[in-house]
Amino acid sequence: MNRARLLIFNAALGPLDYRVPDGMEVEPGSVVVAPLGPRQIVGIVWESERLPTNPVPDSKLRPLLGVLPVPPLRAELRRLIEWTAEYYCASLASVARMVLASGGALRGPATMTEYRLTGGMPERMTPQRQAAIEALEGEQATIRELASIAGVSEGVLRGLVNQGVLEPVEVDCDRPYPSARADFSAPELNPDQQEAAAQFVAAVEEGRFAPFLLDGVTGSGKTEVYFEAMGAAIAAGRQVLVLLPEIALTEAFLRRFEDRFGAAPVVWHSSLKSTERRRAWRAIAAGGAQVVVGARSALFLPYANLGLIVVDEAHEISFKQDEGVRYNARDVAVMRARFERIPVILASATPALESLQMAESGVYTKVDLADRFGGAQLPSIDILNLTEEKPERGRWLAPRLVAAMRERLERGEQSLLFLNRRGYAPLTLCRNCGFRFQCPNCSAWLVEHRLSRRLACHHCGHQTEPPALCPECGEPECLVACGPGVERIADEVAEVLPEARVAVATSDTLNSPEKAAEFVAKAEEQLIDVIVGTQLVTKGFHFPELTLVGVVDADLGLEGGDLRAAERTYQQIAQVSGRAGRGSKPGEVLIQTRHPEAPVIAALAAGDREAFYEAETEGRRHAGAPPFGRWAAIIVSSEDEAEAREAANRIGATRPQLDDVMILGPAPAPMALLRGRYRYRLLLNARRSAEVQKVIRDWLGALSFPQGVRVAVDIDPYSF
Ligand code: ADP
Ligand code: ZN
Repeated sequence: MNRARLLIFNAALGPLDYRVPDGMEVEPGSVVVAPLGPRQIVGIVWESERLPTNPVPDSKLRPLLGVLPVPPLRAELRRLIEWTAEYYCASLASVARMVLASGGALRGPATMTEYRLTGGMPERMTPQRQAAIEALEGEQATIRELASIAGVSEGVLRGLVNQGVLEPVEVDCDRPYPSARADFSAPELNPDQQEAAAQFVAAVEEGRFAPFLLDGVTGSGKTEVYFEAMGAAIAAGRQVLVLLPEIALTEAFLRRFEDRFGAAPVVWHSSLKSTERRRAWRAIAAGGAQVVVGARSALFLPYANLGLIVVDEAHEISFKQDEGVRYNARDVAVMRARFERIPVILASATPALESLQMAESGVYTKVDLADRFGGAQLPSIDILNLTEEKPERGRWLAPRLVAAMRERLERGEQSLLFLNRRGYAPLTLCRNCGFRFQCPNCSAWLVEHRLSRRLACHHCGHQTEPPALCPECGEPECLVACGPGVERIADEVAEVLPEARVAVATSDTLNSPEKAAEFVAKAEEQLIDVIVGTQLVTKGFHFPELTLVGVVDADLGLEGGDLRAAERTYQQIAQVSGRAGRGSKPGEVLIQTRHPEAPVIAALAAGDREAFYEAETEGRRHAGAPPFGRWAAIIVSSEDEAEAREAANRIGATRPQLDDVMILGPAPAPMALLRGRYRYRLLLNARRSAEVQKVIRDWLGALSFPQGVRVAVDIDPYSF
């Protein structure tokens, strides 16, 4: 080959052709450096029908500059990139960027320089230097990362390097990870577990595409069962990817993994340090990383030799990416397994309706674990009707729930209160004039966080200090908190059970692996009596002394325009209920609601999952909603309101007339303002058989928009 077509990260420039100089070896998937104007860019050699031919004659082509010393992207991964771009109406470039830019991993040598404190002091101390030295205690990272940790400029830190206060440390990004052993300490599986594991192990050993839905109640030992399949893959010398919905709390999982396989897995998520990221990326590509535990982005890594994918808590919505390439990692995982010809296990106690439907139609093999391991009983579930059993004025916990918590406290057992709302109160207003604190960048109220003394937007991160006076009427001490968040519930617990030790568990309080580990350790040692938490605590934990779960507001998730609101409510409550009574003592769940008659609440109370799924299935069938029909959204946004509206109207005016696709809108999106951008939305409801992606591509491809307008396509959206 003396001509190479490159897929580059800039979609607007499209694919570019280059000349391959004599003596340079490239093949499809090779990662190369090429000139672009005065710059150098990285690209992937790509042979594909999806990249249109380029008419530049051979003689005009510029030569490639070099090949990067990483393995070429394998055909299986290239197919995944093409499929993802095609299915989610994204550009090849933006998908390729997820694969390659995920590391800064490519450029640069295998060693990197980090810095740490020496213990010395600068000759001249300044407030900034002082602050930096305090902030960097115990840290080691690149200058850029340290600057962001300390909140000072890189210049300040360079000064400290020159003064000998910070010293360089060479980090070898190619040092190997400890190896895992398939059978380090495997437990004896019970007969149900053995039967389930045998199916997975067979598929791993045969090395064939086999999608499984592992459907087992909480505490049935799903993890132990897929560990068995992972052991088989490790024994066969192949890599395993485990996708988890929540990386904040992986610590407990990693420890469990280490106990089972004798070595910690390689972790992959967005907040890795750059040295860790580069080391992980290289080991994954070279095959040295045997097991990778990661967030959804780990799906697009260049595994040398993947043998199994596990998606744990596969129903979780955090597998859906809502910006950039809007993909659902659960679905992409199945496609990756298909291209790699390997098994994939979707594990859940409350599978998504789509997954159950795939099992019903025979595409996925369903594997059931009906009972909790070791004879532990599922908890009893009771409804607490708030219209009859009212909490005291200004309180949120009904007397019966408080009494149940008191009983646990007296018996030395633990309680968990679940409320999916961070902070102290979801809305703050002025008692005098009615002024409400709104985010300047989003259609959302600011949420009061008392622990950190902040009013914060949960959508864009905007924060301010709560003012002493109302910004509207100037009245002092007039601000009132409306409604409860977890911090407010924790305050209430402290009032009604003063001797209880209470912990708030949310992404605010457990915002680092260390804090999460500390929380788990304290709960395990029973230094905590009552945990008040968001959905962060609904999964993964195993506290044997936790015997009571209180759902503070079961109606919360049913509000709003979410297509899957009922399903999600069912999943969350079933999941958090699963934290109760996991040891030898029976568990109890109390669900506070104003709508005990709602089908989802009634099904939870009756412990009748099938009834819920049947009713939900019927509803979806009638609405032509997934899995019977499909939805897609087109979201048009701009910082300029009129510009966004005009662009949306123009898209609306050119809509195609089709029998199998109904097109609604444009209308303001539910978050009409998000991170400073005004948003309009069109919705497509299509029959299963319709070629929605092609419809959208042809339709939008014929239009062009002003610079400031962004048009995003969301296939199979979660909320709208
Ligand atoms: P799930 O993932 O279905 O919620 P887990 O795998 O976490 O269930 O298992 C629940 C508890 O039971 C864990 O403490 C686990 O270690 C234990 N367990 C499950 N299966 C076995 C087994 N075969 N032998 C010993 N302990 C087991
Ligand atoms: Zn905001």
